[in-house]
Amino acid sequence: MAKLVILGSSNALSSKDSENTHMILVGEERIVMIDCVNNPVHRLQQIGVDFMDVTDLVLTHFHPDHVSGVPLLLMDMWLRGRKKLFTIYGLHYTLDRMEQLMRMYSWETWPNFFPVAFHRVPAVEKTSLFECEEFRISSSPVRHLIPTIGLRFDFKSSQSAVAYSCDTEPCAEVVRLAEGADVLIHEATGDATGHSSASQAGKVAAQAEVDKLYLIHYPTGEYTNGNLVAEASQYFQGKVELATDFLSLDLS
Ligand SMILES: [Zn+2]
Repeated sequence: MAKLVILGSSNALSSKDSENTHMILVGEERIVMIDCVNNPVHRLQQIGVDFMDVTDLVLTHFHPDHVSGVPLLLMDMWLRGRKKLFTIYGLHYTLDRMEQLMRMYSWETWPNFFPVAFHRVPAVEKTSLFECEEFRISSSPVRHLIPTIGLRFDFKSSQSAVAYSCDTEPCAEVVRLAEGADVLIHEATGDATGHSSASQAGKVAAQAEVDKLYLIHYPTGEYTNGNLVAEASQYFQGKVELATDFLSLDLS
């Protein structure tokens, strides 16, 4: 049974109880992390996933609040003696920089490093990234400060789908990505360039006609402000909730 677990729900200014936004899709056959921040191992321990069992990693964009944990994850996998392939998906812009970052760490000199495949994804709407028995993941470019992808997870047995906006201004690409999906997870950083407010997330959810909206990547801790659920609900009739750390969506 596949489930999507929110590992972090905060915007870039994270807090004690809310890590930067990242999540993981846990299936029988594949365990796919979506972004990787700070020390990724701790959050995985807390949900009972051994980081050695993660098979794939999708990077949405090359901002520190989404990719800062990748070098440490790779190093810890290497120290634990990983042998099996690890595949990282992302746009050319993202993966070129990730490879540069790893070269800064001289990772080619780390002895007996396990195979890592960089799977470059075109900035084209509804590109299929990955498919296994249980689910399919596809991506669309969205509108952030740097090249960024939003994602869609289609679960085969239940025929349910979840779309994730990632960091973006309100845009038609997310509406199309979420069309026919049950759930939209949309960012709600606030009214800023390259981001969306909760009201704007509500409008996008209404346009996409999803059943349920989860707000994510919102201000947390000392930066918490306003009633984001109420703001989004002004524009969207379906259910609205805050995605919080460790929220688990069972979808198969
Ligand atoms: Zn972000």
